[in-house]
Amino acid sequence: MANETFDVIVIGAGFGGSSCAGLLAKKGLSVLLVEKNALSGGKAMTISKNGYTHTGWVVIGAPVVGNLYEVVLKELGMADKVKLVAPITGRGGSIYKTSSGKYEALPEMPEGETDPNILFDWLEIKEEDREESLRLFGEIVMMPPEQIDTMHDISFDDFLSNYKAPRSLYAFLVSLISDGLFMAPPDVVEAAEIIRSLQDMFLKNGGIFSIGGWSRVTDAYCEAVRQNGGKVIMQARTEKIVVKDGKVTGVVTNKGEFDAPVVISNAGIQPTVLKLVGEDHFDKSYVNYIKDLVPSWSLLGHRYYLNKKITDVPFGVVFSDDSPWTVDRFNRAKKGEASREGVVYYEVPSNYDPDAAPEGKQVFLTGSYCNPDPEMSQEDIKAWADAGEQIIFKAFPEFEGAIEDKELYTTKTVSRLTRDSVLPGVGGETIGIAQIIGQCGPGKPSIQAPIRGLFYVGCDAGGTGVGTQQAVESGMNVADAVYRYCGIHKAQGT
Ligand SMILES: Cc1cc2nc3c(=O)[nH]c(=O)nc-3n(C[C@H](O)[C@H](O)[C@H](O)COP(=O)(O)OP(=O)(O)OC[C@H]3O[C@@H](n4cnc5c(N)ncnc54)[C@H](O)[C@@H]3O)c2cc1C
Repeated sequence: MANETFDVIVIGAGFGGSSCAGLLAKKGLSVLLVEKNALSGGKAMTISKNGYTHTGWVVIGAPVVGNLYEVVLKELGMADKVKLVAPITGRGGSIYKTSSGKYEALPEMPEGETDPNILFDWLEIKEEDREESLRLFGEIVMMPPEQIDTMHDISFDDFLSNYKAPRSLYAFLVSLISDGLFMAPPDVVEAAEIIRSLQDMFLKNGGIFSIGGWSRVTDAYCEAVRQNGGKVIMQARTEKIVVKDGKVTGVVTNKGEFDAPVVISNAGIQPTVLKLVGEDHFDKSYVNYIKDLVPSWSLLGHRYYLNKKITDVPFGVVFSDDSPWTVDRFNRAKKGEASREGVVYYEVPSNYDPDAAPEGKQVFLTGSYCNPDPEMSQEDIKAWADAGEQIIFKAFPEFEGAIEDKELYTTKTVSRLTRDSVLPGVGGETIGIAQIIGQCGPGKPSIQAPIRGLFYVGCDAGGTGVGTQQAVESGMNVADAVYRYCGIHKAQGT
């Protein structure tokens, strides 16, 4: 019997794959979306158990204003299926360890006002350093796109070194965004990528959340595939992308074989090339390029189930002057030769959505830095997890006594749920390939592979910015490119 045939097959229903599949189906192509898990959402998948509903770990959406999750939902006619909410309280939960060792929360800003002195007082910035601090903020916020575009070859640390920024301000900017959201140390993370996102965070806010969990968004994108005549098959692991005469012809999954002249992979660029297609189908130089791509660093941490509410803030970071990573400090920390104290990132889903936890209880998710190796030793896992946990216990004095239950998630958990590990030490990355110099802007991998009909979607190609948002931007860009590609090839009869 002949295999079922589609215009396009999309592998993976993460934010990149599901948005792309939904948009292509809406444009009129026949689309098959295959996902290995029982639920959509990939690295931002929802977990529901024991009366709690949350993402497996901290996933904070950004920006709030003009976010692309909503742009795609509207385009697909699915906006009423999802409720996205901004933080309920007026402040995020940034907590700074002051020079006296006390953990102090950023005070609430007066309604509708942004008084930089509130921030500067909290960060203990001396009077004589405030003008320079303001200059730094001003230049980040006002930088025009053409100037940002000149910053692909410099790191965020290089950019910050142009200012005499006090250490606490440096630590704030790095912890909040480059270490915290981009998961790459400031001495390698690309300045242009960071500055664009900082502008978004300052002008369009951060901290958007999906009621019922982030899988509601990707489920709505999957539903758009079905409503537009396409097919979604869950628990269908793609084992192979079939290539004949330099052209993709379809996929082999554990639920059957399917044909299409176009395959879009959300499975990660390295697993796609090295495992699903196989090295033999590519030039050696392309294979070496793919192998050399550097993954983002990772988060590991806990899901804490608390017997009472210990905070009313929905998300935040805990940091100190010593938090910012460098590549060298990270390598030394891994060997036990430097402190593992970095930024700790947290989210409290039940402070956005009362139904996320049983009455009177609280679910609290944390994440702190580690390397992406899914095969990390138990000793290493413990050392990274303890470093993060100790910071949370100090920042929230009531915390430890309120723990009813806790679960550790690791890089292995992340890899199992999302991308396969196909190179030593790689697979548990938080984002995808790291947004470092040479892998962003003009250096970002092309969405089109050097095999006819093969495309990549998600955080490895086609988008910019913060995790989930970047994946959706990629979904939109890849959908446009593939639609054009299919139209041209149909017109030419090729
Ligand atoms: C601990 C942690 C914290 C994070 N915090 C944030 C945050 O605060 N804010 C934020 O915006 N982002 C955050 N992110 C990052 C964000 O979740 C990801 O960048 C984004 O969701 C990635 O989307 P994607 O489409 O590129 O890929 P993925 O989410 O990895 O999706 C890939 C999909 O493909 C499927 N797949 C893979 N291989 C196969 C196969 N062979 N066959 C079939 N299906 C397959 C997977 O099951 C998965 O569903 C976090 C991630 C982690 C792990």
